[in-house]
Amino acid sequence: MELFIYIYLFLVGITLGSFYNVVGLRLPKGESIVTPRSHCTTCDRTLHATELIPVFSYLFQRGKCKGCKTKISALYPTMELLTGLLFAYSYYHFGFTAELVVALLLISLLVIIVVSDLSSMLILNKVLLFFLPLFVILRFTIAPLEPIWDAPLGAAVGFGLLFLLAIVSKGGMGGGDIKLYGVIGFALGLMGTLTSLFIAAMLGLVVAVINLAFKSFDRKREIPFGPYIAVGALIAYFFGQQLVDSYRALFFF
Ligand SMILES: [Zn+2]
Repeated sequence: MELFIYIYLFLVGITLGSFYNVVGLRLPKGESIVTPRSHCTTCDRTLHATELIPVFSYLFQRGKCKGCKTKISALYPTMELLTGLLFAYSYYHFGFTAELVVALLLISLLVIIVVSDLSSMLILNKVLLFFLPLFVILRFTIAPLEPIWDAPLGAAVGFGLLFLLAIVSKGGMGGGDIKLYGVIGFALGLMGTLTSLFIAAMLGLVVAVINLAFKSFDRKREIPFGPYIAVGALIAYFFGQQLVDSYRALFFF
């Protein structure tokens, strides 16, 4: 029975992940997410049902369009697979609790953000405004944090810190990133928000140093910070408390 739930959540995850790819790719371009039906962006051929199976179609077609043989970006199957794995993991972590709903929503939001930020450097208000009320309702009803004001506090501090960072860095941080933190802060609470920011900043720093070392760093190019925020938020959400505890144990306080 347990195994069945994991498989079910994995399949729901890769299927929704496939939809989130479409949302993240099309919304920034102002396109409808329903029509036209999925098509190859190179040869414009409408995709057959067998080419729309999340993850598996990509593997069977060896990452190429069946018609024109153009390579398909590995980002799509990767995001589908990640969504599936994270959905299944959320059940492992939380079981059938109200927090499972928060987890699935947070994963969904972050997957869409990563796709839209990587494909068009945009974090859309439409997406944020869809998820914000859901987190607000959940955090004030069936899935509250302890104490109850921890969620709005996390949102306020996340939004405020990124806003300050944007002023200090003179536009190095996009408006989308600031608003995004206002939303995920509600899911994470104060401690989670601070931990996630720390992790995102560390990751960004490590990647910047690696890029500098290989001299592939282009100063003029804007760096999408969304993926770092997403990874930081997920690590903090699932393991934040453990991280803080082990950090404390390490420094004896
Ligand atoms: Zn094609």
